[in-house]
Amino acid sequence: MPVAIEFQQVSRHYGEVKALDSVSFTVEEGEFFSMLGPSGSGKTTSLRLMAGFEQPTSGSLTLMGKEASGTPPYERDVNTVFQDYALFPHMSVLDNVAYGLMVRKVGKAERHAKARDALAMVALPNHAERTPAQLSGGQRQRVALARALVNRPRILLLDEPLGALDMKLREQMQVELKVLHRKLGITFVYVTHDQGEALSMSDRIAVFNHGRIEQIASPRALYHQPRTRFVADFVGSANVIDTDLAHTITGKAQAFAVRQENITVVAPGGSAKKGLLQVEGEVLAIQFLGASQRLEVRVGNQTLTAMQTESEAASTLAAHTQAGQRVALSWSQQHMVMLDA
Ligand code: ADP
Ligand code: MG
Repeated sequence: MPVAIEFQQVSRHYGEVKALDSVSFTVEEGEFFSMLGPSGSGKTTSLRLMAGFEQPTSGSLTLMGKEASGTPPYERDVNTVFQDYALFPHMSVLDNVAYGLMVRKVGKAERHAKARDALAMVALPNHAERTPAQLSGGQRQRVALARALVNRPRILLLDEPLGALDMKLREQMQVELKVLHRKLGITFVYVTHDQGEALSMSDRIAVFNHGRIEQIASPRALYHQPRTRFVADFVGSANVIDTDLAHTITGKAQAFAVRQENITVVAPGGSAKKGLLQVEGEVLAIQFLGASQRLEVRVGNQTLTAMQTESEAASTLAAHTQAGQRVALSWSQQHMVMLDA
């Protein structure tokens, strides 16, 4: 696969603050690549470096095989969609979308034709004459998307584009963005702090923490083989068993992760079956969630969570468990992921 974006030991420091600290990665052409991490971890800084709004303090980056430094934003084959879509309130939707072309002195007929094409792409063909105030939040975000696509960039950068939308609309737009990505065949770089969003949309995800990348992997690999404690916890909030408790359970002082859905609740007192590990604790809380049930169990000085579907719970002890009761938690060896750090 040809490379769309390459970062080589790129840093961006603001005085003492290392917004980005010697980060290297590549994004392939046509990929849906997400940058996931908590607030302040360096995601937007990375995106701004790609767009050309920022320059690296050190290191180099290439876009579509060309060294990017020195190329101003408007000459890059890249466009950005921001969370606060920043539409011009007094302009029609059509003129908002066509704005970038107007700045580039494209004639009115061509610019309007291209803007109408872009509006059709984002499923808003009949709203061209409205003003932004006459649109819903989701529709405004589509206009922002059309505006970024109107000059057909090779790479689309999206910085938490759905952050301002409510849950239901966000899920709908996630599906639409995926469809759009497939249809256009261009590279999407998607910034989000929402792990569910990243898992559901991406080909690969880079997990950011304190200006560094902890792991880059496919959604499934990140979920099932997190390499670090941070990734295990941030992606799907796995139980991270610290070295002390790990030593008690396995005899080895190496931290490991085990997903809450892979833990079964069984009666205390027995010994673990072959191939299973087991530890006892006290139930702190039980949450009934409809299709599933979540148990918090105090084990040693840690609180572990076990998640079971209603049908699983019905066939195990979990259905009859109450807070204060002692239980044993059990999981199979194959569901443990040993952690480096
Ligand atoms: P994210 O998008 O992951 O929330 P950012 O890339 O925006 O994080 O920021 C990373 C770090 O860099 C933060 O600590 C932020 O405060 C700092 N930072 C970003 N931009 C600037 C700036 N222009 N001046 C000083 N500090 C900045
Ligand atoms: Mg940000």
